[in-house]
Formats: sequence, C-alpha cells, structure tokens
Amino acid sequence: MNAQNAVEARNTVKAFGQGDAQVRALNDVSVEIRKGEFFTLLGPSGCGKTTLLRLIAGFEMPTSGTILLDGQDITYLPPNKRPVNTVFQSYALFPHLTVAQNIAFGLQMLDKPAAEVKSTTEKMLALVKLEAMAGRKTSQLSGGQQQRVALARALAPQPKVLLLDEPLSALDLKLRKEMQIELKRLQTETGITFVFVTHDQEEALTMSDRIGVMSAGKLQQVGTAKDIYTRPVNRFVASFIGETNFLTATTEAGGARLATGDLIEVAGTTPGQRVTVAFRPEQVRLVTAGEAGAIPATITNLVYFGTDTHCHVALNDGTEVVARLQNPSTGDAGLAIGQTLALRFAPGAAQVVED
Ligand code: ATP
Repeated sequence: MNAQNAVEARNTVKAFGQGDAQVRALNDVSVEIRKGEFFTLLGPSGCGKTTLLRLIAGFEMPTSGTILLDGQDITYLPPNKRPVNTVFQSYALFPHLTVAQNIAFGLQMLDKPAAEVKSTTEKMLALVKLEAMAGRKTSQLSGGQQQRVALARALAPQPKVLLLDEPLSALDLKLRKEMQIELKRLQTETGITFVFVTHDQEEALTMSDRIGVMSAGKLQQVGTAKDIYTRPVNRFVASFIGETNFLTATTEAGGARLATGDLIEVAGTTPGQRVTVAFRPEQVRLVTAGEAGAIPATITNLVYFGTDTHCHVALNDGTEVVARLQNPSTGDAGLAIGQTLALRFAPGAAQVVED
C-alpha cells in the first residue's frame, strides 16, 4: 500500500445472481485513488461504476478482493464505521428541516457538542455560499441550491473520502456547468479526496485530476484527462472519450499500410500485423489533391458547428474519415461536397490501439 493512497481496490470482483443469470458487475478491478485528488469513474450505463462506489461506501461487499482506506482493510467494515460519505443523485434532503438543520443533522448523529455543530454548520454554509438561506426549508430551494445543501451536509463531518454518484445529472445544462466549477472548488478548498461517478465524458475531462475509464466491469485505463484523450489504450477508450477515426491497416517498416495502398506513419510497431490505427478529427489536415505522401480523398459531407466544421471524406476504398477544421473568422474555407483533396496527419497523431 502506497501511503499516498486514500482508497485502494485490489482485484475486486462483484457478482450478482447465480448460474446463467449471474452478472459480473466488477470483474477483477484494481485501482489506487490518491489522497486529495478528484478522481472520476467514467463509463457507460451498466459498466460497474456505481457498484465500485458502493463497495467503497460499504453498501455492498465484494464477492472477492479487498478495499483499503488509508491503508486499512475496510472490506467488511459497516458503512457507518467508515470515514466516508456519499452524495447521491437524489439529494435525499429532509424537506421539513431547514438548510442549517439538514447540514447539522449528520454532526448531531455523531454526538458532536452543540458548539461544534453550530460552528461547523456555519462554516459549511459559508463554503457553499448559502448563509442567506440558512433558515429556509429545503423544499423551498432550487435544484442547484438543494445540491449545495447535500454537499455541505456530506462534507460537514469531514470525511476522508467523499463519494459522488452522478450528483449533477438532475440539473439543467447551464446549472450543471456552474456546479462542475463549484464542485472542483469545494474539492480544492477542503482537500478531501473526491470519487466522482459519471457517464458524461465532458464532465470527467473538465473536473478530474485523474479518470478511471470503465467498461463491462473492467477498468480500461487510468490517467489524467490529457493522458486518456491523447493516448487511449484501446478502441473503447478512444471512442468513448472524444471522437476518433479508426482505420484497419497492416504494419510494415515505417508505418501502417491501408487497404487503399497508402502508408500512415505510426511509431513502435512490429511489421506484418493487422492493426487498428486511431486518430482524432482535429489531427487531420486537408491538403491539395496530388500532394506527395498525402492520402487521396473526396469530400462527402460538411457539417457546420460554428467554431469548426466537420468535413467527412471518403478514401479511395470508400472508408470514411472525419476531419475537424477550424472555421476562418472571415470568409469560408472554400470546401465543397464532391471536391477531391488529400489527407495528412500531424506528426505522431496516428497510433495503433488494441481492439
Ligand atoms: P448506471 O450509470 O446505469 O448506474 P453503472 O455503471 O453504475 O450504471 P452498476 O449500477 O454498477 O453500473 O451495475 C453494473 C451491472 O451490475 C449492471 O449490469 C447491473 O444491472 C448489475 N447490478 C447492479 N446492482 C445489482 C443488483 N443489486 N442485483 C443484480 N444486478 C445488479
């Protein structure tokens, strides 16, 4: 156990049901979450992220494997004995209590002295900027304000780890963006380790120190937003985070040969293998038809997005590739459907990914 880790899951398996109906929600997941980091579990619905969160909270026991908190084995410790708190999507506030009473509730349950309950509640009200609402019933608050109360209540007992299960998904887009910034601020100010669950890749990219990408009960990749975006380890990660073009090719000295006969430069490959080459739409450059070493293509569609245009092109064998081009601030890019041109890649852009 590394002393820098707040939470560690070791070889955790969680199976639900029996025999043929058995579902492996977690299939041998190991992860290390560092102290004081904003760590996000990201993946599509059903990939097992909530199950992993529930194992850390103690609401579920693993079928096998170990959960450690601050170096201690807590696998079978009851939830109320763990220095961990959870914020759910449904805020689970008490509607008949005031904002201050909701925040104080958890502290009173822990038998904290009245003076400490009062001072911590005031501190938490200031932290989430709800001092003016202290006496209001939570049923009279907006969704965003209720979310702040839920966060303040969960942070009040100063847990070592705060678990957040899709806490922003009930908010509209504008409020969600505001709360993303707010959550990151709360995490930085309190220094508490946050483990955040979401299926929203943009949310994960903007808030997290590190992200664990999950699919089908497995952790696919752990890294910073930049690591994961620029160096996805496999096809799933490359397609779940951002947009990606995939081409099938055969490796040879100096690159990967496409079915069209064109060569793409890729590093570190063994010749003679069938591989999948991945590259992002913004890494494709369009150049004049006939340029030496560029891949001939024809524009099949142009989709305008304001700041940029998605240019769909077909290679000579019909394979489609999307290029994202920044729109010029004046005039237009002078592209038209049916136009022939050629593709190039930024150096190091194309890479081989596992299927
Ligand atoms: P979502 O974003 O939809 O909540 P998730 O990634 O959090 O998805 P989990 O809720 O962890 O996924 O579920 C993972 C798998 O385990 C799913 O196939 C789910 O149906 C199954 N599962 C979860 N809890 C149970 C349970 N109590 N009994 C049976 N199957 C379960």
